[in-house]
Amino acid sequence: MIVIKGVPASAGIAIGRAYLLENEEIVINRLDIAPQRVRLEVKRFKLALEATHRDLDATEAKALKMLGKEHARLIDTHRLILRDPLITKDVPKRILDEGVNAEFALSEALEVVNQTFEKMQDEFFRERRHDLFDVGKRLLSHLLKQEKKGLTDIKAPSILVARNLLPSDTLNLRENNILGFVTDLGGKSSHTALLAQSMEIPAVVGLSDASQRVKTGDQIIVDGDQGLVLIHPSPEAIVKYEKAREQSLQEEEALERFVGVPATTADGIRVRVKVNMDSPEELKPAAALRPDGVGLFRTEYLYLNRPSAPTEEEQSRIYIPVTRAFAPQPVVFRTADIGGDRLTQLGLEGPKNEANPFMGLRGIRIFLKHPDLMKTQFRAMLRAAPYGKVEVLLPMISSIEEIQGARRVFFEAHQELLAEGVEVPKKVPLGIMVEIPSAALMLDALLDEVDFVSIGTNDLIQYTLAVDRINEEVAHLYDPFHPAIVRLLHQIVETTHRRDKKVTVCGEMASDPRAVPLLVGLGVDVFSVTPRMFLRIKQIIRSIRMEDARAAIHKAVRMSDSREIQRLVGEL
Ligand code: PEP
Ligand code: MG
Repeated sequence: MIVIKGVPASAGIAIGRAYLLENEEIVINRLDIAPQRVRLEVKRFKLALEATHRDLDATEAKALKMLGKEHARLIDTHRLILRDPLITKDVPKRILDEGVNAEFALSEALEVVNQTFEKMQDEFFRERRHDLFDVGKRLLSHLLKQEKKGLTDIKAPSILVARNLLPSDTLNLRENNILGFVTDLGGKSSHTALLAQSMEIPAVVGLSDASQRVKTGDQIIVDGDQGLVLIHPSPEAIVKYEKAREQSLQEEEALERFVGVPATTADGIRVRVKVNMDSPEELKPAAALRPDGVGLFRTEYLYLNRPSAPTEEEQSRIYIPVTRAFAPQPVVFRTADIGGDRLTQLGLEGPKNEANPFMGLRGIRIFLKHPDLMKTQFRAMLRAAPYGKVEVLLPMISSIEEIQGARRVFFEAHQELLAEGVEVPKKVPLGIMVEIPSAALMLDALLDEVDFVSIGTNDLIQYTLAVDRINEEVAHLYDPFHPAIVRLLHQIVETTHRRDKKVTVCGEMASDPRAVPLLVGLGVDVFSVTPRMFLRIKQIIRSIRMEDARAAIHKAVRMSDSREIQRLVGEL
């Protein structure tokens, strides 16, 4: 048995026979093109470009159907690469100037872009190299008129082993009998990894030479939790992993019994568990969980990858069915938190080439600069209010003036709709995200202006600890149990409760089984969690005694060591 360790990219266990996806080496020769034929060569390139665009349309339709808008957006990255002047202008120019064949001109252009990506410090951007390969390969295969070798040859359920797997290949895995996959290249934040998680396919990436060690037909085990791959596993290892897989399947099934039951602690204290939603595609599965409402409906996706902002009509067409589906439970719509790593192509004056985008024009800051955008979004959200229970949430609040500025626009939007005869309820709650330390520290003052607060731990941790949330280099410092975070959370909950208002946590911490006992003990009223963790989190809450959790927190807020806090909370 050989055990190799890589990066755990998608959780779960797969046991089966390997299918090695051979590296299709594309050999590109430099050919001289006669001057009278260079124009034809450019035309050939343009036809291949068009064919690749058509490919992308087809892949996008598939992604949309299988995984929703969020992932279909990956294709936009590919389109952007295809439309980049480095491809559309430089390649024809090379063909014309140097009299070379299109394949060669293209491979040279791709190499230039690749080198630029490779030099990037940021892992997220470095990973986009794979998107470039993906698009480049499609384009080349059209030029070479090669059918892209697919996964369709795989007949029996298998574990795919490859040097690298492109995001577009990943989309085809489910329908091609793939139980799991392992790759030599790739990182945790690659689109391939993200897609695998969404599709719930166990995966380990970054294994260096797995594709050389494994042959088609070899028995292997993929442990997507630990990032391990076992080649020729021993009978004992197979038994152990089969048991573990069986157990996790059973656990998942057993969780079904928590659908529709209240999230009450073992000693009878009622807590609310809601879901986070990122797009309307999640509506059906999220509603099936019968949550206590939607604690956070992110609306950024509406503003990304497009040249103009969504209209009121377009937005309310989304907000109304969501509101209706959960009524009488509330739905919290958050105004768009664009900026940061969610860059828009809206052509707004502002976020361009910022050295620190997370500290730049983001969220409410963009909207206060463009009140027209804010008004349109408020109007669309308020239009949904007559269909159920709507609440509106403002992201990235750092001062009272920002709340007051937004409230003025909110009030105007409300008045306008009433004047137009829309039956908006008199009171639509307006709340803020507490995700910037300044808001947490002066929350007592901010509470005068708002109806509820929701803690965005993702950003609150990043800004309190000065740890970039998407930078792998400092990921080990991103610690939800840091004593400063525990104390700050304690302060936020206490301050809000003193005003008889409710606290939600909608950051990932609420979906983290390890952190939930801590949040319960702190007195968090509402957990807004990712749908996939919803039942598990409910189960954990129901197993905790509030009295014990409170006593533990009493000690935890006086501790100065994260590990000590984790140990204490782990015993709950
Ligand atoms: C957060 O910051 O915790 C949060 C929920 O918002 P987002 O992840 O969208 O920034
Ligand atoms: Mg946030």
